[in-house]
This record gives sequence, structure tokens and C-alpha cells, in this order.
Amino acid sequence: MAARIAVFGSVNMDLVAYTDRVPATGETVTGTDFRQVPGGKGANQAVAAARAGASVAFLGAVGDDSFGTSLRTNLVGCGVDVGGLRTVPGPSGVAHIVVDAGGGNSIIVVPGANGRVTGVAEGDRALLEGASALLLQLELPMEAVTAAARAGRELGVPVHLTPAPAQDLPAELLESVDVLVPNEHEAAALTGRTDPREALSALLEDVPEVLITLGGEGSLYGARGTEPVHVPAHRVAAVDTTAAGDTFCGSFAVARAEGRSPEEAMRFAAAAAALSVQRHGASTSMPDRAEVEEFLR
Ligand code: ATP
Repeated sequence: MAARIAVFGSVNMDLVAYTDRVPATGETVTGTDFRQVPGGKGANQAVAAARAGASVAFLGAVGDDSFGTSLRTNLVGCGVDVGGLRTVPGPSGVAHIVVDAGGGNSIIVVPGANGRVTGVAEGDRALLEGASALLLQLELPMEAVTAAARAGRELGVPVHLTPAPAQDLPAELLESVDVLVPNEHEAAALTGRTDPREALSALLEDVPEVLITLGGEGSLYGARGTEPVHVPAHRVAAVDTTAAGDTFCGSFAVARAEGRSPEEAMRFAAAAAALSVQRHGASTSMPDRAEVEEFLR
């Protein structure tokens, strides 16, 4: 039977303008290309988990605008259960992304409907009950994320938290987190330690399991009282690493939910992420389970 994963998180429409040069204040430049792509860390992790073969329920909110309709339709098209996705009055979340000729980007995220999520509605607790993992990120209000983590803990569902965008984590949130999954920059911001092994030990004082993603260097996992495990990344020609971390988190959670060891789950997730970085886009770049299994053969 497929693993059941619940994701409580953000859903945004990414509006990506490509330009040779980023305009200064008061200036207008002509761009070279434009793409409108569904995004948001929550939605991306939900799609990654669904592609990895899980049955996925998404809890969050879109606005009552046309972006909200497309974002909902996209999640449904990716096989995600949107029974917990509310439509609220006002705009959906958007990310205005400007990509310059060198591939560098500047991003303005306007949370819209995401900013109005307060917690897991009573009627939505059934979506968490019996799930093998609850995936959280920090693109919803901190009180809402904390309430969801607590609901996960009360229902006995392992809670995985991606602490992005990086910010201080309140103790009330950390006490309900089972697996913290920062990238190396977030791990350094949270601990003040730039060495991932040192950051790992510091974070293990707050949560029982930590998985730090290290970009092209792979990932590092530790649990209290055990030796850390490093799994290297695959050597591939990366063209776009957008959402590599979300692909990794979603795939890792599914593999763990299926009973694989942390190391086996890291290998599965590294393969999914390696496939995704060889293609452009966020959720559109994520491989399905058959591709990951083929890659690992
Ligand atoms: P993003 O914010 O873009 O989603 P992230 O910073 O959260 O990414 P990373 O640590 O960059 O996450 O990457 C997650 C995983 O993706 C890595 O652990 C690795 O397995 C894989 N990965 C990332 N970059 C590369 C690369 N250049 N080549 C191969 N695998 C990669």
C-alpha cells in the first residue's frame, strides 16, 4: 500500500521574468522571457512526495483569484488530495522572481492566502490521522506551523520540518518536530556553525533527527546517540537546482514511510534530486518513482 503523507504548507504562483539587467528603482527594462509556474515550498514537497509514489493530502490556502484556480488544478493534476486546501477571499500567494543574465535571482514573495492560514481546521485532522509523516516548512505564519506540528505530535504522526526561509525556531515548535531538514545555509544560520557536522550536533540538542542537505556535496543525517551518515550527491550536469531541496525532502519522507533506513532513504532522495536538477523548473522537473528506480539500477 502507498505511504500516506500530509503536507501543511504554502502554495504560490511563481512569476518569473528573465532580463539581461535588473532595473534600478524608477527604471524600466525590457525582459527576454517570462514564465508562470506553480510553486511554494509546501506544494513542491507535496508534488515530490506524490511523484515518489505516496498518497498525499495537502493542507493550506489559495485566494479566490485565477491563480488560486490554477494552483488547485495543478495539485489535482499531480495526484495530490486537495480536500484540505481552502479558498479564502483575496489574492493567492505569489513569488515575483527576476532572473538576470548570469542566472542570479531576486525574489519578492507576497504570502497572500498563505498568510491567512491559522492552523489545522478541526475537520482536517482526519487528513493527518494515520499519515506516515507530516511535512512542514516556514512559508506559513509561525503560529500556524507550530499548531500543525502540535497536531501531528498529538496524532502520533512523525513531523518533518524544513526550516526555510531561515528564521529563529520557537521552542514550542521544536518540541513537536521529529526530523529537522535544513540546507547547509539554514543549519549555519540556526546554529552559528558553518561546519555541517558541528551544526548537526548542535541541532540534535533540540530535535531527535537532523538531515542537512549540502547541495552538490550530498546530505548528512544524524540521530541522537548514533554516528552521522553522509551520502554523496550524484555527479550530474545540473542545469537548474530550483526545488532540489523540496524534491529531496518529499522523496526522503516517502522512503522513510515505507520503512527504509535513513541511509537508504537518503540514497533514494539523492537520486530523485539528481534527476530534478538536470531539468528546468520546480515541480515540473521532479521525476516519478519509475525514473528514480531506473536511475538507481
Ligand atoms: P532549493 O532551495 O533549491 O530547493 P536546497 O538548498 O534546499 O535547494 P540543496 O542542499 O541545494 O537543497 O540540494 C538538495 C539535494 O539535492 C542535495 O542533498 C543533493 O542530493 C541534490 N543536489 C543539489 N544540487 C545538486 C547538484 N548540483 N548535483 C547533484 N545533486 C544535487
